[in-house]
Formats: sequence, C-alpha cells, structure tokens
Amino acid sequence: MELLNIKNLDFVGKKVFIRCDFNVPMDEFGNISDDRRIRSALSTINYCLNQDCAVVLGSHLGRPDGEVVSKYSLAPVAKRIQHLLKREVILAKDVVGEDALAKASTLKSGEVLLLENLRYEKGETDNSIELSKKLASMVDFYVNDAFGVSHRAHSSVEGITKFFDNKHKAAGFLLQKEIQFLGKLVEKPVRPFAAIVGGSKVSGKLEALINLLPRVDKVIIGGGMAFTFLKQMGYDVGASLVESDLLEEAEHIMQEAKKLGVKFYLPIDVIAAEKFSEDSISKITTVQEIPKGWMGLDIGPATVKLYEEVLSDVQTVLWNGPMGVYEMDKFAGGSNKIAHYLANSYATTVVGGGDTADLVQRIDLDEQMTFISTGGGASLELLEGKILPGVAPLIIKKI
Ligand code: AMP
Repeated sequence: MELLNIKNLDFVGKKVFIRCDFNVPMDEFGNISDDRRIRSALSTINYCLNQDCAVVLGSHLGRPDGEVVSKYSLAPVAKRIQHLLKREVILAKDVVGEDALAKASTLKSGEVLLLENLRYEKGETDNSIELSKKLASMVDFYVNDAFGVSHRAHSSVEGITKFFDNKHKAAGFLLQKEIQFLGKLVEKPVRPFAAIVGGSKVSGKLEALINLLPRVDKVIIGGGMAFTFLKQMGYDVGASLVESDLLEEAEHIMQEAKKLGVKFYLPIDVIAAEKFSEDSISKITTVQEIPKGWMGLDIGPATVKLYEEVLSDVQTVLWNGPMGVYEMDKFAGGSNKIAHYLANSYATTVVGGGDTADLVQRIDLDEQMTFISTGGGASLELLEGKILPGVAPLIIKKI
C-alpha cells in the first residue's frame, strides 16, 4: 500500500496541522507514565519544522466525551513535547474556539501550537464536518500521524481530509512505518502465523477474532476473555470474568476455528484468587477446579508451558492483550513469561495495543520485539484486512 508522502509536499513558509496520537497513560498524580507515543511523533514534527513551516498539533487524550474535563487537558503533554523538541510549545485554551483560532492565525514559521484535547469537542467522535472545516481553516496542509486512531472515522482523522487535495495532505512518518510493516504482515506472513489474544473481554475483540481466523494458523487465548470460552465448554469458572451474552458467539468462534483448521488454544490452568486484589490469597488451579467464588486472574504455569510449546514452531506472532491482570505483580507472571519467550524467539514478533506494549516495556523487553505498534485496535483492524478510515483518503496505490 502506498500512501501520500509528506516529502512530496512543499511546506516552506506555510502552516501544517499534524494529527498526532498523544493519548498517553498517566499515573494518579497526572504524570505521564509512558511517553512512547509522544516520542514516536517527533520525527514528523521535526521534519515539518525543518521545512520552515508553522506546526499546529492536535490529539485526543482519554474520553472526556465532548466536555471540558481538566484531568484530560493536554497541558502535561505540551510540557513533555516542549522538553523533547527543545523549543516552546504554545498550548491553546480550546480546540477551535477563539483562543485556538487567534493563536493559529498569528503562528509563525518554526512555531508550534498544540490545540486542547480534540475530544473536548463533541463533534470529534461524531465526525462533524463543521469541526473538520474549522480545524482545516487554521492551516494549509494536513498530515495524519496518529496510527492509533486511524481506525476511527473521527473529525480530525477522516472528515478533515475532505478539505485538502492530494497536494495538501499526507501520511506522517509514524503512520507510514506502521502501515508498511503491518501491511507486509497481512499480505505475506511467514507461516506458521499465530495470534495471541488476551485482555479483559471477548466483546472488545470479538470481530477481530472472527476476522483473524482465516488469516492465522493458531490462536492462543489468555486474559479475562478466556473464561467466556471455558464457560461455554462447560467448565465452572467460579467468579471469573464471563460475558454470558456472548457464550453463543464464543461457540461460533471455536466452531469456525475447527472448520478452518485453525488450532485454537485455551488455558488449562490459572492463578485463581479469592478477590480482585493484590493482597488476596491465591493459588494455582486447573480450569476444572477453580474454587467456588474465586476468579482466574492469570494463566497458570502449565498453560505457559503449553503455550511455549505451541509457539515453538511459529514464524510470525501477533500479540494483542495481556494474559492476566499484569498491573498487579502477583498476576503478571503469565504475561511476563510469554513476553520473555517471544523476546528470545526467532519469530517475527509484533506487539499491538497500549496494555501489551506497556507490559513488555515494564520488563525492558520492548527492544527485543520485532515491532511494537502504537495502535492496538488499529493494528488488529489492519491485520483483519480492513482499510482504516483515516488511511483510506491518503492511499495512492492499494498494493
Ligand atoms: P483490554 O483493554 O480488553 O485489552 O484488557 C486489558 C485489561 O485486561 C488489563 O487491564 C488487565 O488487567 C485485564 N485482564 C487481563 N486478564 C484478566 C482477568 N483474568 N480478569 C480480569 N481482567 C483481566
């Protein structure tokens, strides 16, 4: 897939809007706990600044749902970009209000303006054409470098592209890199190809699971979502996370896997706990013997062994979603062991999703994975073979 390239745009003396993904995790004190997404955007921002143009940055953070919520302000992000760019970053007080429009209109070459959280405007997630028009009115060029939201038809991702012709819009370097790498993986993965899918719920990844089945050779399930499948298979999973309304879907996925000859693996043992808490008593148990009222919060050691065996001949691995509640040390063992196994394997290892990238980074294995995608949902949708709404308007050649 070939995308409109920013190197073909003549930015000199002009203004460019760069849609970034600065949706970074924050700790309880409002500090940025992982700035990977900000650092990933620097090459595009620096390139534009080196072309002697003025840069307007836009991003969302969290889900303020169209309201101005101070905890979702981009102020900490502005500070971090300023520190990384080593130049002043002006933060607008609003998105397309008086302050932002005034600041954008007087912005000079070499200056950087960051708009407030795009999702302070309800129109952002509604793909409001009025909002797109206002955003577009501030600049001469549009660059999408927000791979993490490119699967969303939002105003600053999709709608805005309608206001720029092919000589005035392009994909940034991060978006290019993600599409090129993941695109190759979709077209010609070296087989066997395994998908490791975890995380809390089946509902969030149901469509992805169905669409991935025809593309992969093996599926390995972990995390809370495993229990809906196990329950459907007739096991008593105690108080583990189960989505009762999805039992039939779970059955459908397992049947479909069988039909397609895809090997489908579920945990055989878990770390079960009495409460959803770090200080709860816990024990290793097979999935057939989870005590009444207890919940499975991580895959067990026998499952880790099984999964290592399953992965031993695999050439390409896509991993999206933790194997357990990795935020609590007690239930992080399964995810950490799988991460270590992948880090040491010769397979092409692709990690997608904020949580999975975060857990790999916590144990310093990020450099040992082949590729860490900045977008969880976006990377899954791409690997399912979908054309992302934020990418479609920037495509020059499909193959
Ligand atoms: P998701 O956002 O669906 O990818 O899920 C990520 C979350 O799933 C993480 O915050 C984990 O703590 C959580 N998770 C993983 N395994 C379990 C489990 N067995 N029970 C409950 N939550 C889980």
